[in-house]
Amino acid sequence: MKIRDILDKRKLSVSFEVFPPRQDSGIEGVMRCTNELAELNPDFISVTYGAGGGTSANTVRIASHLQTIGVTPIAHLTSYSSTKDEVHRVISELKEKNVYNILALRGDKPRDPDFVPPGDYRYASDLVTDIKSLGDFCVGGACYPEGHPESGGREQDISNLKAKVDAGCSFLTTQMFFENSLLYSFLYRTQAKGITVPVLAGIMPVTSGKQVQRIRELSNAYLPTKFLSLVDRFGDNNDAMKQAGIAYASEQIIDLVANGVRGIHIYAMNRPDIVRAIMANISSILEGARAL
Ligand code: FAD
Repeated sequence: MKIRDILDKRKLSVSFEVFPPRQDSGIEGVMRCTNELAELNPDFISVTYGAGGGTSANTVRIASHLQTIGVTPIAHLTSYSSTKDEVHRVISELKEKNVYNILALRGDKPRDPDFVPPGDYRYASDLVTDIKSLGDFCVGGACYPEGHPESGGREQDISNLKAKVDAGCSFLTTQMFFENSLLYSFLYRTQAKGITVPVLAGIMPVTSGKQVQRIRELSNAYLPTKFLSLVDRFGDNNDAMKQAGIAYASEQIIDLVANGVRGIHIYAMNRPDIVRAIMANISSILEGARAL
């Protein structure tokens, strides 16, 4: 099923994200994880993609597995470091497996200062246009409530986002954020710019002190005092931090649903136990809100 059709029908969608293993030997474990996530009845599950294409085969395999267990899959695809031929090969494989939902991404620029990109795709919007020319795909894109770090300002970022949506995105999924008011003001700005496609809120349950360190290193996400207090107090105690992280994510979702967001996308980090606990915390809230 196309995600745009699911979003047309649902008042609120709930979806999860998994990542493929770096080594083929890890594939069975990720498949088991998707089987467990499937029991939680998501509208779809997305599968990330290695920016350099390293895990592309496993992205396709996991998306195809989701299809066979009756869950709508969406495969991520990045383009900056790839040639058109490489990208087209992956798109053909997805078609072969009947996967017609793609999250079109530029991918992060490699850190190697000597890296020269092939130059076939500069921005994700180039990839969106290309995918749309290759078949009846439902294409989504990424967006950044706090602005993308390379954009040169939030206004410019929203203009670039509008161009990406106009190239053919049916929906957008946000980068993780930990302060809901940032999303609300972003939604206001996107609407003012005439971006009308559904925006799915990306929620990252943070359940270990190590994860916070990684978020600090890799993203510019604003971490509110309330969040930092939890990490300060419980970061060294695995069980306590897990419980606190699940509670924080659940609270974020409840507020988002109360404020009418169109979709919740949980970064599952291949941890069905954590997603299950969040879903249990909000089961009655979701029941009414997700009604067709
Ligand atoms: P773009 O939309 O191309 O934007 C990149 C930058 O270019 C922005 O600053 C934008 O403002 C600017 N820009 C865009 N168009 C123009 C233009 N015409 N002129 C000037 N500037 C322009 N990475 C992976 O490697 N694999 C994944 O599976 C993956 N999944 C992700 C899922 C989500 C939901 C999100 C939010 C991110 C994901 N990423 C993934 C990370 C993503 O690849 C990086 O954030 C990357 O730096 C930007 O990708 P993009 O598709 O948003 O790029």
